[in-house]
Amino acid sequence: MSSALDTLRKRFGHREFRPLQGEAIEALLAGRDVFLLMPTGGGKSLCYQLPALLMRGTAVVASPLVALMKDQVDALEGLGVAAAAYNSSLDGAAARRVLARLHAGELDLVYVAPERLVSAEFLARLDGLELALFAIDEAHCVSQWGHDFRPEYRQLDVLGQRYPGVPRIALTATADPHTREDVAAQLGLAEPLFLAGGFDRPNIRYRVVPKSRPVDQLLELTAGQPEASGIVYCLTRRRTEEVAAALAEAGLQAGAYHAGLTAVERRRVQERFLTGDLRTVVATVAFGMGIDKPDVRYVVHHDLPLSVEAYYQETGRAGRDGLPAEALLLYAPGDAGRAFALIERGRNHEQQRIERFKLRAMMAYAEGASCRRQALLHYFGEEAPAACGNCDVCLDPPETVDATEEARMALSCVFRVGQRFGAQYVVDVLVGSTKERLQANGHDKLPTWGVGRHHPRERWVALLRQLVHAGYLEQDLSRYAVLKLTDRAGPLLRGEETLRLALPRHVGRPRTAGRSGTSGSAGQRRSLAGDPGRASRREERPLSAAEEELFEELRSLRRRLAAEQGVPAYVVFNDRTLRELARRRPGSPGELLDVPGVGPAKLDRYGAVFLEALSDSSKGPASGQALAPEQPSLIGDADVRSQQPPRQ
Ligand code: ADP
Ligand code: ZN
Repeated sequence: MSSALDTLRKRFGHREFRPLQGEAIEALLAGRDVFLLMPTGGGKSLCYQLPALLMRGTAVVASPLVALMKDQVDALEGLGVAAAAYNSSLDGAAARRVLARLHAGELDLVYVAPERLVSAEFLARLDGLELALFAIDEAHCVSQWGHDFRPEYRQLDVLGQRYPGVPRIALTATADPHTREDVAAQLGLAEPLFLAGGFDRPNIRYRVVPKSRPVDQLLELTAGQPEASGIVYCLTRRRTEEVAAALAEAGLQAGAYHAGLTAVERRRVQERFLTGDLRTVVATVAFGMGIDKPDVRYVVHHDLPLSVEAYYQETGRAGRDGLPAEALLLYAPGDAGRAFALIERGRNHEQQRIERFKLRAMMAYAEGASCRRQALLHYFGEEAPAACGNCDVCLDPPETVDATEEARMALSCVFRVGQRFGAQYVVDVLVGSTKERLQANGHDKLPTWGVGRHHPRERWVALLRQLVHAGYLEQDLSRYAVLKLTDRAGPLLRGEETLRLALPRHVGRPRTAGRSGTSGSAGQRRSLAGDPGRASRREERPLSAAEEELFEELRSLRRRLAAEQGVPAYVVFNDRTLRELARRRPGSPGELLDVPGVGPAKLDRYGAVFLEALSDSSKGPASGQALAPEQPSLIGDADVRSQQPPRQ
């Protein structure tokens, strides 16, 4: 490694390795596969470029974009490194020159597009060469779970089979826990060293606030810093226009930006933003790619982003200059309903399933009650500091309670059901449900069965979520969000540790007149066990993440039934009834009849199949669902719940 440091200084002109670079390089030099997850700009390329110089033979880099290859090769040539790109941009003569240098063993690095790399012709060339390593850039493209799936990446597994002794490094800036595993599996990496880091952006203050009057909330944020630049992200084009207009009316220089504008209009907004002429851009996700404005002081999410990756990437545009910046998420659970509806419009069912999972992870983040930075860093697989001191939860800590005993119950229950079930099922066992499925599995005989019946279900669902955020449990998103213990769970289970957890804030507080409630203050806290206002919440309370999930399943079932019978969906049950079903989870025909919208005729016709679905719901979303796409019923700007007439 001393030669590595030497090369770093002499060739690359950097004084020290950044975190993880040394580990990655050391592993490759020792012949081990590596999976490296670091944000853009973190310094990933050095991790294969430097070993390429130290190892015998040529390093082959799979890179999807011709333009990126060129940048890298230019930079390397500037450092006096023998590197070349072999791609479609070369004319015949230039391509022949690259191949000649490759075969002469003159190149330390060669960049190729993945489809070219796996072609029979190119592999035949590699067979005769000495190879240092393979680097697979933008490795998330190999997984359907990544946001940028490219089928040609799938064939890269041939590298491991054909050149088993050549170490490989997969590099990416975004991958949720499941995508990571999938990428490693698809590429056939051999017990890779997994490295993730550099995701912490300590100068960004993350805040999640219940969305009440969003424009007022935005103005409040900007009031103290009228000169500051910021980006406000909205889910739809129409919303960007509306919000921009409202801000402009309030005297803020704001402009909308979305894919519906002409290229000229978009460029104009972009330029005005970059020069500081336009303070605030209200945009859809289309805005931000390639915008490198260092002094963005705030990024606001007016609507719930569709995934934690998207959220992280968008908030990451704040404070690139390292000065204090703010990332504010305005959260209304109803937005999640709209986002689910948006996903429903997609055509590819597998894709929809993945997107729903990602959205749920985002909801869990928004509804979480532990340090935001910790939750984010855990999501990206990075070790997190104890608590960051610079997020809404750390700054205005919710009350905490000693949760050691309950956490032990929950963790041991996860363990006893074989780490093979999702949260709803685990909660069923904890509260002592007598559902058929649970009995069939013999789980009503477990010592943990019913130990938690003194708390309401929501309490346990919230606790499980907190245990995920705090790193005691992980959720396998590929397999119906099955819960598993992590290494951290051991000491707690063995009684070597205690745990205090926050009482969740009640983010989804129903709107009440005369209270603007713009900050997550004590007013929104609610006791879990005591549960004040439970009776009135029955109809008003928006769905929790778990309930929203169940609601989605029920909608799928309804769609299927409606399609089978050739009737409109609402003839089966309306949304309000489905919501109540998701909330109450009736377990018997009698309980079902109690739900508004369920009469004897409907009970007769649909009762059995819905009860079955409700008792099965911990399995995850029904597969093979969705025949006719349903017109999303969540329209307009009102919250979802406002469509439900209040019960008299
Ligand atoms: P990534 O591929 O992760 O997006 P790059 O490899 O392009 O990031 O690196 C981003 C920047 O960081 C480059 O300008 C690079 O020169 C610089 N860099 C990389 N490693 C170091 C280091 N150890 N010390 C200082 N700068 C570094
Ligand atoms: Zn924090």
